[in-house]
Amino acid sequence: MSDLYLKIVNTAAGKTAAQTLGLPAPVPLKRLRRTDQPFIEGDILIGAAGGAKAVATLGSVLSASAANLHHASGNQRLNDSAKAGNKAQPLELGADIHQTFSALVFDATGLRSPDDLRALYDFFHPTIKKLGGNARVLVIGQNPASCRKPPHAAAQQALEGFVRSVGKEIGKKGSTANLLWMAPGAEKQLDSSVRFFLSPRSAYVSGQVVKIGKRESSKATNPVAPLTGKVALVTGASRGIGAAIAETLARDGATVVGLDIPPAMEELEKVTSAINGKALACDITDAKAPKLIGDFLEEHFGGVDLVIHNAGITRDKTLGNMPEHFWDMTIAVNLSAEELIDEELIHRELLKENGRIVCISSISGIAGNFGQTNYSTAKCGVIGYVEAMARQVRNGVTINAVAPGFIETQMTAAMPITLREAGRRMNSLSQGGQPVDVAETIAWYCSPASNGVNGNVVRVCGQSLIGK
Ligand code: NAD
Repeated sequence: MSDLYLKIVNTAAGKTAAQTLGLPAPVPLKRLRRTDQPFIEGDILIGAAGGAKAVATLGSVLSASAANLHHASGNQRLNDSAKAGNKAQPLELGADIHQTFSALVFDATGLRSPDDLRALYDFFHPTIKKLGGNARVLVIGQNPASCRKPPHAAAQQALEGFVRSVGKEIGKKGSTANLLWMAPGAEKQLDSSVRFFLSPRSAYVSGQVVKIGKRESSKATNPVAPLTGKVALVTGASRGIGAAIAETLARDGATVVGLDIPPAMEELEKVTSAINGKALACDITDAKAPKLIGDFLEEHFGGVDLVIHNAGITRDKTLGNMPEHFWDMTIAVNLSAEELIDEELIHRELLKENGRIVCISSISGIAGNFGQTNYSTAKCGVIGYVEAMARQVRNGVTINAVAPGFIETQMTAAMPITLREAGRRMNSLSQGGQPVDVAETIAWYCSPASNGVNGNVVRVCGQSLIGK
């Protein structure tokens, strides 16, 4: 789907008109579809406060990029930055800074009290105006749930407010800000998340907080095709976000089983044949669906590694006017079916070791939406399901959710124009996302290196103003 306003506002005349009228001027987002390209380029500045735990890991992850690394120096509170490794050149924050940064990365794991928060100001105040367009701010903190002392928890929780505000300030240049909350000792699990949040693959993800747990060290993966040898089930794969997920997982090396309702078979087969996958006709609300899916995966592949519950529907009506089948169908497709399919796959031990389950929620499930009591109920239920399942999964399995905001698909193209324009502009990046933005987030969850990422709900919404 095309956003005409985004195109017009990026012409010379459009820019002037937007400026004069005080209209939003969204910047086209850089996206990266090829996997053999560096995940970030340009100049990156790394900073860390005293007692930082992740900075050495950050240095080694970033050394593998094509970027020029610098570490902050000349400030007492930031003296651990030097641990960013030999490749990082010192950069004095007191002096004039001539670089334009593609990313500012700050290890805040050492912040133990509200006074320590001053280190954020010391690092970002002289550098934030030096960020280029489509740039990244990434802060690494410690999950406050693991901080015993209240001032420690306060300092770590504070990072969330900081990052969410920074995201709102830098979004107009197409830039994003996110926070990784590590469990103590989870440094080795940072790699895939640092790569994702610094790369153009997270173009439409901003203002998000991701919890990273300590897990067994992840096995080395092939960076160009990290999902080689994996089998993925993607429901609702014939179009929109589902088709983008199928294509992205196949790009990363997975063999994809696309599933959709029987009337969508022609479209589905176009998607699956282009990626050498298989098509499965199935209505996931059918009582026989879980068994049919389980039998198919067992017969063809002996099981499944990645289960992506993407199929979804809306049946909008205000509650008093809503026919009961609107309610029942919406809950069944968006919520109950996912649970029943997982139960079948787990019970029959078809979900393999280190498997991944990803569910699709929605910002409507977080903030609620007029005329969508059924849909918001289902999509909020998805969050409860994911959080509870995350505590139960075994054998290296993880379960996470994405909550898309306004994504340019047939679903959103069918919205009335005023609602559609509001959905597109009411976020820090002032534009809608693309199906690939959701797909790339799912590919990051699915990476074998993301084994510490479990029980998260990441919004792919350009930091929508709707919801928290
Ligand atoms: P879409 O309507 O374009 O695609 C949904 C797919 O699910 C279709 O191919 C449809 O045939 C399939 N499907 C529906 N019912 C099914 C059933 N009973 N069994 C099997 N397949 C079924 O939607 P989309 O915009 O691509 O959305 C994909 C997911 O993302 C959905 O879960 C949706 O709720 C969610 N989402 C989308 C947006 C957005 O802006 N587009 C925002 C938030 C959440």
